Amino acid sequence: MSETRSAQAASVIRHADVLIVGGGLSGTMLAAQLLRQPGERQILVIEPRSELGRGEAYSAVELGHTLNGNAARMSVDPDNADDLTQWLTEYIAAGGWPESDQQHVPVSELFPPRGIFGLYAQQRLAEAQAHSHSTIEHIRAEVIDLQVDECSTRLTLDNGQQLRGAFAVLATGMFPATRTPQTTSSGLNAATVDPWDVEAMTQLDSQSTVLIIGSGLTMVDAVVSLEQAGHRGPIEIFSRHGLLPHVRRQPPGWADFLAEDHALCSPRQLVREVRRQCHAALDQDVDWQAPLDTVRAHIGRLWSQASEREKRQFVRHVRPWWESHHHRSPPLSAELVARLHGEGRLRIHAASFKGVESSASGEVRILLRRRGEQQTTLVTGAALINSSGIEYDWRRVDRPLPRQLLARGLIQPGPLALGIAAHVSGAVLDVDGHVSQRLFAMGPPLRGMWWESTAVTDVASQAKALAARLAM
Ligand SMILES: Cc1cc2nc3c(=O)[nH]c(=O)nc-3n(C[C@H](O)[C@H](O)[C@H](O)COP(=O)(O)OP(=O)(O)OC[C@H]3O[C@@H](n4cnc5c(N)ncnc54)[C@H](O)[C@@H]3O)c2cc1C
Repeated sequence: MSETRSAQAASVIRHADVLIVGGGLSGTMLAAQLLRQPGERQILVIEPRSELGRGEAYSAVELGHTLNGNAARMSVDPDNADDLTQWLTEYIAAGGWPESDQQHVPVSELFPPRGIFGLYAQQRLAEAQAHSHSTIEHIRAEVIDLQVDECSTRLTLDNGQQLRGAFAVLATGMFPATRTPQTTSSGLNAATVDPWDVEAMTQLDSQSTVLIIGSGLTMVDAVVSLEQAGHRGPIEIFSRHGLLPHVRRQPPGWADFLAEDHALCSPRQLVREVRRQCHAALDQDVDWQAPLDTVRAHIGRLWSQASEREKRQFVRHVRPWWESHHHRSPPLSAELVARLHGEGRLRIHAASFKGVESSASGEVRILLRRRGEQQTTLVTGAALINSSGIEYDWRRVDRPLPRQLLARGLIQPGPLALGIAAHVSGAVLDVDGHVSQRLFAMGPPLRGMWWESTAVTDVASQAKALAARLAM
């Protein structure tokens, strides 16, 4: 029966101009930008989720799961930095997000809940659609295979359907880290909790000990969820370097010192100069975040110019510092983490995660090696939250599409095996290094090309440039 159904579906090949694989923020912003291009084209976005524009990040239902930058920094319109502020002003005036008035700051300084940001992205897509001669359709399915010939691309979906398009774009986002503890024993299944699942957290004993692996922004979300769920017990956080993200403040402007000095390029030189600038700022009573924030605009250039050795040095020595200083926490969440830390209820440990031991009692037992120690330590808690991050190496991603693309030689790993290799236009490189005329990528899959290729503003500017390229 299922074979017949898939054979029937496979015989129906739909055609389109652009096939977008993934309808998170990247795929949705690309669709919106394509709709704004002159001419008529048919765009299909293939996304298993019920709504476009959300992905993992903007499906958040918890109001405390906010953007990590304020509205002034998170426009999806590269030509209008105030776009989110303007949309949010209207949204709040229409009665949306009533809790925002407790913050007593201008709309541009609010850190919107990510679920509301998802609505904004959807509305911008709908507006682009309303004014376009092109069409867009959301097909709810997973792409499991992709083939490319000289004139077209062909996708196979998990329902057996086939789609053919002049171009295909990989907007598949981020894949969870393979370091995810394996949930093999039933005891562990019961004790492992998703960082964003407030409902599951309400089931925990409110005084129980919760263990968290990873200390970045996903951990911050998890702590917000635990608090919201009524958890009041100890929270033990383990990460390799034991660093907590800094709080995001609103620093004043600072001279763009990297624009003036293109000779600076090695990680060592960069760190030395950034430190010097931060000290200079502090000497003038200016927030150290001011000079640091000027670096962001140059990261893509610095990363792509760096040799492989320098990239490795950056990842090994600078990355933990960059993550905690640059990927900063929204103020309300940071306040909560700081309060729990100050009360001694939340503790952060520098330790490497080594594995999980099954436990008949329903508790979770994890093996760790604390920094500077040789032996492993067993730690027990009532629940384990994995917030250890993202798997950027596609060779380790256990999903059909990455596997097929690699097996067909249509892609090759990006620098340091971060994501996939591509030309500056976003056209992917095949296994022999040829630049594809048909297959493109954007957002997190291009991590290895730009280092920062994930945030709202990265995705928004890539969407605009790629739409212009595809419409040529
Ligand atoms: C929890 C979280 C919070 C974040 N917060 C911020 C923030 O505050 N500020 C900021 O600037 N950035 C933030 N980011 C980063 C960034 O904005 C997001 O990663 C952004 O969602 C990237 O969009 P994307 O569409 O590329 O990826 P995703 O949102 O991951 O979407 C990719 C989509 O592709 C689909 N997909 C994958 N494979 C296939 C396939 N084979 N077939 C069909 N569909 C497929 C998935 O279902 C998914 O919906 C956050 C990220 C996360 C995960």
